[in-house]
Amino acid sequence: MSFFCEKMHKNRTYWHNYTFMKSRRKFLTSTALGGIGIGLGSACSDEVIRKEGNSRIDYSKKYSWKMFTTWPPNFPILGEGCVLFSQWVEEMSGGRMKIRVFGGGEIVPALETFEAVKEGIAEMGNAAAYYWAGKIPSSQLFASVPFGLNAQQMNTWLLAYGGEQLWREIYEPFNLIPFTTGNTGVQMGGWFNQKIDSIEDISGLKMRIPGLGGKVWAKAGGTTVLVSGGEIYTNLERGVIDATEWIGPYHDYLMGFHQVAKYYYYPGWHEPGTAFESFVNREKYLELPPDLREIITSALYRLNLWLISQFEMKNAEHLELIKKTGKVQILAFPDSVLKELKRYKGEVIDELIASDPASKKVFDSISSFKELMGPWTRISEKEFYKTQDL
Ligand code: CA
Repeated sequence: MSFFCEKMHKNRTYWHNYTFMKSRRKFLTSTALGGIGIGLGSACSDEVIRKEGNSRIDYSKKYSWKMFTTWPPNFPILGEGCVLFSQWVEEMSGGRMKIRVFGGGEIVPALETFEAVKEGIAEMGNAAAYYWAGKIPSSQLFASVPFGLNAQQMNTWLLAYGGEQLWREIYEPFNLIPFTTGNTGVQMGGWFNQKIDSIEDISGLKMRIPGLGGKVWAKAGGTTVLVSGGEIYTNLERGVIDATEWIGPYHDYLMGFHQVAKYYYYPGWHEPGTAFESFVNREKYLELPPDLREIITSALYRLNLWLISQFEMKNAEHLELIKKTGKVQILAFPDSVLKELKRYKGEVIDELIASDPASKKVFDSISSFKELMGPWTRISEKEFYKTQDL
């Protein structure tokens, strides 16, 4: 078992320890240095105080924020990225803004992050939007849709086509402003101990596959099993589950799945580009001077790019490491299987949008975006990829 694999197993409590711990720790509130430099007359005319409308803005005030994340502390790429984000904000703001990052379970359970930021217990959160599907069914469409958008298309839909605007409307009643902050890129289809040659082979197969992908799997005759991150390895090893998906070669390698499964299937039809989110408590965000708001926004954009680049780099490197173990066959799902799964995906989405008007609105936006992109993508990205193998 690799070092990181061991580390992840040790961190397993973060995945299912949902005991509310907020009362156990106390935190410094903002340092409340506001007031320094305000109203000191002409001697301070060069003070970093400017007017916005009729209100005076104190550019010397210091802020101390908390970011709750749904990841174990320092979780590879995802947790690390949040720590970097806080460093960028501190440096860009000349130390006026500090954001302390907490892993899931350190103060509140991972899945309480949304509620904690909504209530202002923390000012910011970092997660994947599908965690909130029970509360806001449409939220999962801002993370990933089976056979949906890849990372580049997801960013384009969100940042240039109006997807982010829709997302903000949906989070507004919850007092949160969401930002897209990274993407896994195309995930892998998962680890199996038997071959998938036809859709019939899925029948009765117990797989750990969450979210909309899991619903598609169930429609195809498979059994969807809920397993916390820290227990997947053992369950796969002992045959409690027949298969699992996780993320991509990097995180999968760290989990050690190559030691307990024979086949590694691609592509990750169920998560072609899962986007991550950061959200900010709306009131806390609007209290900030405009420059700090822009610093946070810019650092979140940087996090988006940093994360995508890290996933691409590390996945490519670790795919080679997985190959080098010589223990795993890396196989493509047959087209016939993907075609059937895609058909079932249509049924899953139809059921979702029939039961939730917001999901319909979001999915209609994704669909019209895909229709617009299709002709362009077919003669740009798709054709260019072919040339890389010439
Ligand atoms: Ca996954």
